[in-house]
Amino acid sequence: MASERSSVPPEHTFGVCGYPLGQSLSPALHTWAFARTGIAAAYTSWETPPAELPAFVTAFRKRPYGGASVTIPHKQNIVAFLDGVTDTATSIGAVNTLFWKNDALFGHNTDMEGFLAPLAAEALPAAALILGAGGAARAVLAGLAHLGISRVILAARTTEKAEQLARDYCARFASLSVIAWEDRENIPAAVEGGLWVVNTTPLGMRGKAEGLSPLSGAAFARARDAGACLAYDLVYNPLRTAFLDAAMKAGWTVRDGLDMFVAQGAAQFRLWTGQDMPVRDARAFLLTHLEP
Ligand code: NAP
Repeated sequence: MASERSSVPPEHTFGVCGYPLGQSLSPALHTWAFARTGIAAAYTSWETPPAELPAFVTAFRKRPYGGASVTIPHKQNIVAFLDGVTDTATSIGAVNTLFWKNDALFGHNTDMEGFLAPLAAEALPAAALILGAGGAARAVLAGLAHLGISRVILAARTTEKAEQLARDYCARFASLSVIAWEDRENIPAAVEGGLWVVNTTPLGMRGKAEGLSPLSGAAFARARDAGACLAYDLVYNPLRTAFLDAAMKAGWTVRDGLDMFVAQGAAQFRLWTGQDMPVRDARAFLLTHLEP
């Protein structure tokens, strides 16, 4: 764990624990929010390889630090080192936030709240197609169940992972089916009554996957007449991914991943400080960190 050079006491020091942390925007977001709300606190990066996770939690308790964000690859493994987890974290099966409840170290998950925030005003579709079956897909599934969407279709490169997710979540939906990754192109046009398509894969991310989309423009275009409606990309760097670009060109409504990122961070901030983060300004601030 990195030593702090700042004068902020440990209980007012927060940070993100993950590995690697190169592209994380959490330090920028929370540092900005502390300054903006006039809270004397600091937010740092705790790059923690998997083998060092137990030592990290021990050191965190000993200081003790004020709270933490938790990211890949620790969201599930960290649960074993905590005193308890919230119902939401249990429901998702992963933790992205550490906070103190009296003297006990608890895990919570704000990804579901973050995912739902940009959907608040949307009419519910007949079905949702989720692309990818990793940790973020779990929060998306929990969110869709929370909204009461009855039919969900899962497609992932590794079919076994989608099947495991389907087993874990099947009781929460009237219909939860898995299709082969190769068949995802046919689904949007086959669903009547409105469809949300959610990309939870890293396809489209700046770096090695930039410019790639998990769904083609032709698939989006074919779906238009069937009442398809909303494409949601969890990727937020770049903001306009190839997936969203293809959807927009075919006339779909889109949601980018930045509002989700800000909303999940705002929920953490509220848990740690009791204060609201100004989310519109936070988004505008983060846009200055993303290349066009
Ligand atoms: P994860 O646990 O590693 O899962 C990634 C999923 O994408 C897996 O199903 C994986 O398949 C699949 N995948 C990876 N590369 C692929 C490729 N080239 N082609 C097809 N499928 C591929 O990651 P995660 O935590 O779920 O995060 C997924 C994405 O969501 C990341 O881009 C992350 O930045 C983003 N995210 C955004 C927010 C937000 O607030 N906006 C929050 C959480 C996550 P395999 O199992 O076969 O590898």
